[in-house]
Amino acid sequence: MATGEHPAFLWWNGKQVRWEDATIHVTDLAWSTVGAVFEGIRAYWNEDHQELYVFRLREHLDRLMDSMRLVRLPTTYGVDDLREATLTLLKANESREDTYIRPLAYSSGTSCKRLSESSSNAALLINTNPMPSKLASGESIKVKVSSWTRISDNVMPPRIKNISNYRNGQLASMEARADGYDNAILLSPQAKVSEAPGACVMMVKHGKLITPPTTDGILESITRDAVMTMASESLRLDVVERSIDRTELYLADELFLCGTAFEITPVAEVDRYQVGTGGIGEVTSQLQLLFENVLRGKEDEFASWRTVVGVEAGVAAD
Ligand SMILES: *Cc1c(COP(=O)(O)O)cnc(C)c1O
Repeated sequence: MATGEHPAFLWWNGKQVRWEDATIHVTDLAWSTVGAVFEGIRAYWNEDHQELYVFRLREHLDRLMDSMRLVRLPTTYGVDDLREATLTLLKANESREDTYIRPLAYSSGTSCKRLSESSSNAALLINTNPMPSKLASGESIKVKVSSWTRISDNVMPPRIKNISNYRNGQLASMEARADGYDNAILLSPQAKVSEAPGACVMMVKHGKLITPPTTDGILESITRDAVMTMASESLRLDVVERSIDRTELYLADELFLCGTAFEITPVAEVDRYQVGTGGIGEVTSQLQLLFENVLRGKEDEFASWRTVVGVEAGVAAD
């Protein structure tokens, strides 16, 4: 990273600005975050190639546009503008390590407004931060089925990254931590497995990969799509999207969470039931290995999922 504890630049409303200069007036906080939406994107460093690869950048930016549309935040920026801004920013920040990219769209100037007034001026920001991968760490987690229920589609829009949705998952993960688990799995109002806070749920049973459908209150995860594609095309597994009962979790052969932040995180226990043989399952570890290679550009298959940043060739803008 260029400067001390934070990257040198971020992108804000069409301009690349120095981190220190990206300030707003405190009254702007007001209601600005109630309707805010965001994206979480990862870029992976390949030491041999001396290159940074962004994972499925276009799909993430398309989803940001969908999120903005759903919460009625108009914007004049298109996916190509934001794609360009992201790549320029990564070069300016000389990001030569695994990096998290977070675009955020919010309604600015809300302090004197009513909540019902839809925003005419969406502000848009993109910032980056180092975030090392845990894919090769060999770690697994223990989860509980939450006493909280996952928000449903007629309450909040679960399929998009709408900031106000996140209290739901936060309450579930805080409860899980307080009860001595690492994380939670939330059930839908119909008592079907929905997702973990910030990650989708995948179960292996009798050699099939099974995951809840997008209509069970899950976020429409890009990692979920990648995992399903890799499992079916590379591992030749049957991939099934169907509702999952709570008790199926206790009898699963393998269980893992997936998402941009969670990558592929093995689950070793649910409600103190050991999953499978307790270690990282065969399918889970094959998927972790393949995913790591795909993300870092060590694998030719699925090359279209990667955007080459060109960090080496980049010249820091100043
Ligand atoms: C981001 C997110 C996921 C994972 O989606 P990806 O597109 O794979 O990053 C799952 N659940 C929630 C609530 C999320 O915000």
